[in-house]
Amino acid sequence: MTFAAIIVAAGTGSRAGSGPAKQWRTLAGKPVLRWSAERLVDAGANPLVVVVSAEGEAPARAALSGLDGWRLARGGATRAQSVQSGLAAIEVADETPVLVHDAARPLVTANHVDDLLAALQTADAALPALAVADTLRRMADGRTETVPRDGLWRAQTPQAARLGRLRTAYANWAGPGEPTDDAAVVEADGGRIALTPGDPRLMKLTFPEDFEMAERLAGGAMITRIGQGFDAHRWGPGEAVWLCGVRIDHDQTLIGHSDADAGLHALTDAILGALGEGDIGDHFPPTDPQWKGAASDLFLRHAAQMVTARGGRISNVDVTLICERPKIKPHREAMRQRLAEILDLPLDRVSVKATTTEGMGFTGRQEGLAAQAVALLETPA
Ligand code: MG
Repeated sequence: MTFAAIIVAAGTGSRAGSGPAKQWRTLAGKPVLRWSAERLVDAGANPLVVVVSAEGEAPARAALSGLDGWRLARGGATRAQSVQSGLAAIEVADETPVLVHDAARPLVTANHVDDLLAALQTADAALPALAVADTLRRMADGRTETVPRDGLWRAQTPQAARLGRLRTAYANWAGPGEPTDDAAVVEADGGRIALTPGDPRLMKLTFPEDFEMAERLAGGAMITRIGQGFDAHRWGPGEAVWLCGVRIDHDQTLIGHSDADAGLHALTDAILGALGEGDIGDHFPPTDPQWKGAASDLFLRHAAQMVTARGGRISNVDVTLICERPKIKPHREAMRQRLAEILDLPLDRVSVKATTTEGMGFTGRQEGLAAQAVALLETPA
């Protein structure tokens, strides 16, 4: 059946963590927005209107490049305004079904579309809905109470209505407040609503951890990669040393072209190794004067960005520092936190350990400090 579709991608999604809005981030190798755009176009959406903010135009064009059959519309301050802007950009007959979809739900399928279009044979609007399985508790005045979940559903998108009906319903919306749900707008205008089967795969990407679950649900083949790194620097005169991105007061320093942070260097090499991308010297040649005295978090950030650029993620990292002095233990937590911050990972994915070599070898003789690291990554196959 012919249908039109609108993807609302004008939000900023601040709950999904720092960085670009979630619709521009990568999920299993491609931008979040592209997932639903491709799938709606494949299912027959014509036209597909993607509603973006002014700042969203460039990333939307980049995310959708090479895909046919879409156009952009400018979003408003609220979802309802953005939907109406999308509706205004569609030039098809009033009876044509239109699906309104949130960009943050990337895993829509042709089956979802078929169910919605079928439901419109008898209803004025349709939406996928999932029964609530968890017990719901409400907290007020420091006390909690159970909210009966009978009759409660989780509303998902796409939501469907015929174009003319949906335009009229939005025009007639009298509040209270702004609607957040297209089917509710039609219902408020006297329309009859049908529920189609919801699907965990229609989950909305809201929090950082949702991306990981969505990647599993996307079923995109990911492969696990492991890399290891080793580095050593010589002790020399100084008053402080940088290790794992933390400055420690000490009666010596490590000598090197950059800040000689062997922990960060070993970890950077581990990530580059997992990617098969050579070593730190290939990316930041020690002969290049611009890296003289450089803070080594720059190198680690670069390696982490290479993982992200491939649509991958770092599963966990583990660093071992090998030295007699300084004592590492008092600084271990600060080092973990610093690495977690640089890599944008939860703390429990980051480990820093230390050992002496009981006086043996170059670390034992305190000629230098060594570090080794492993990194485990997942990247699209
Ligand atoms: Mg080094």
